[in-house]
Amino acid sequence: MNFAAPAPAGDACSRCAQSSGTCCTLSPGSEEFCFPLSGSERTAMQAAGATPEMFSSQANTAGFVDNLCRLFPGEGEKVRALFPTEGFHDRLAVSLTGECLLLGPRGCSLPREARPLYCRLFPFWIRAGRQMYFEFKECQALRESRGGGGLLKRLGMTETGVFDLYHRLREAWGLTERR
Ligand code: SF4
Ligand code: SF4
Repeated sequence: MNFAAPAPAGDACSRCAQSSGTCCTLSPGSEEFCFPLSGSERTAMQAAGATPEMFSSQANTAGFVDNLCRLFPGEGEKVRALFPTEGFHDRLAVSLTGECLLLGPRGCSLPREARPLYCRLFPFWIRAGRQMYFEFKECQALRESRGGGGLLKRLGMTETGVFDLYHRLREAWGLTERR
């Protein structure tokens, strides 16, 4: 799940779940790099059926914080204040082989609206106010698309929807901003 974790949404994601680990799997040993879950995201997931074992408490390691700082360039001070060295945050629990415990044979077992915001946004992100996407080579939707427009279509997303999710994620993670 790549600091990056993921968002099985459409057919491409189902095919992806059947053919590869999808963005819902991380390399064993790199669990600390999984994206954080806010309280509101966890509540929504639990309301949709996620049980306490699906979550894990993770120390704010230097590697985790550095990764977050790279995701939000120029906001390191704010990120470090939100995730202090001695603190912990919630993340998704994974199996011994790195799969998110919510991943089923056809993708995520949660309804899309209850999934973590990072999962719903992936592989898209906003950088310097512009939409971009992560070049994740295992992404089936990316392999089947030619550029960002095709990728949006494959994943059943829109550019406006990507911006909206990104701002919701910032707010949930405590990186509130003026809009
Ligand atoms: S919550 Fe769902 S979409 Fe997110 S990593 Fe887990 S299985 Fe994938
Ligand atoms: S197609 Fe891409 S977004 Fe969908 S599950 Fe695979 S890696 Fe994730």
